[in-house]
Amino acid sequence: MRNWSIPAGRLFGVELRVHLTFFFLLMFIWLTESASHGPASAGRGLALVGLIFVSVVLHELGHALVGMQSGVPAKAIILLPIGGVTVFDETQRPVEPGMLTWKRDIRIALAGPLVNLVIALAGVGILLAMAPQVHLWARPLGVPNSNNLPRSFVWANLGLALLNLLPAYPLDGGKVLRALFNRHMDPVRATRRAVTIGQAFATVFMLIGILQPAFVWLTMIGFFLFIAAQLEERSAVFQSVLETVRLEDIMLTDFATLSPADTLEDALEKAVHSLQDDFPVIRGSDMVGVISRQKILQALRAEGNGYVQSVMNRIFEVAQKKESLASAFRKLTARNLSIIPVVEDQRLVGIVTLQNLLHSMALLAESRKLRKAALNS
Ligand SMILES: [Zn+2]
Repeated sequence: MRNWSIPAGRLFGVELRVHLTFFFLLMFIWLTESASHGPASAGRGLALVGLIFVSVVLHELGHALVGMQSGVPAKAIILLPIGGVTVFDETQRPVEPGMLTWKRDIRIALAGPLVNLVIALAGVGILLAMAPQVHLWARPLGVPNSNNLPRSFVWANLGLALLNLLPAYPLDGGKVLRALFNRHMDPVRATRRAVTIGQAFATVFMLIGILQPAFVWLTMIGFFLFIAAQLEERSAVFQSVLETVRLEDIMLTDFATLSPADTLEDALEKAVHSLQDDFPVIRGSDMVGVISRQKILQALRAEGNGYVQSVMNRIFEVAQKKESLASAFRKLTARNLSIIPVVEDQRLVGIVTLQNLLHSMALLAESRKLRKAALNS
């Protein structure tokens, strides 16, 4: 999802990104508006997209601010025409059991639709007080079918609130549902159950959209929901593997090391004969640094031959062999590292590199699938 979005500044320290589908919406509204009301109303269409945009931003800020308050800081907000996605910083906190977090998760999920409801109600109040000639309930109802922008704004917020309250995971209503499942089962099963319900909704939406041309936009929403649900399921499985696998299960125990007194040319020679991209630097039995193949090459190019000691990275993290993959991942990403030495009683017993972590993730996923297939047959 992130790849299909462009940065649009920051709000309360949270990165804002606009998903490219927002521009599809822009084009869609512009085309339908100029087809039905002539090009003069294209400007109105633009304003309409602007209003939906503002409503989605406020909705997501609702999630982000309540999240922040509950100790789950938001990393980024990706704005989609149907509501956007708030990406919480999952890597920085361990997964807690659902019994402890379900109330918090429900609070965060409900905050978004609540913001839209409050705005819609406030809008109704203001319209009634200041422009009683605008008929909110006049037919046809809905966002595009109005020549009055404040009225469209009210409808956009009402629509966003109601759509997101549907129990179709990963819409907010579906998140509430998953939090409720999460009280009695592990996160992966809770997510799977919510995903199944979400995808049933998505399928119905797509069918209605295909059968009823007037609701063709439902196809788009259904399609989005389907993909988003799948992505959520995959990330839940990924997260659970990360938490349950220990470093000793996947660390490399057969690896090359360098000495601080090695010359860079020697180091390169060793690197050529190894598959490793990163090397621990050892003096006696002590770890004194780490160095990457890349860094060796760079130093050789820039300054010619020298010693590993002067180029190696002295700041590094170590991990215990009983630590989980998730914890190693957090250490790697927090400091932008590519290798973590694994120690037991201060003794180097293995290494974990980003490369090997990703490989073993794929292998673990495969072996679990095989085991499951064996159990089922
Ligand atoms: Zn939401």
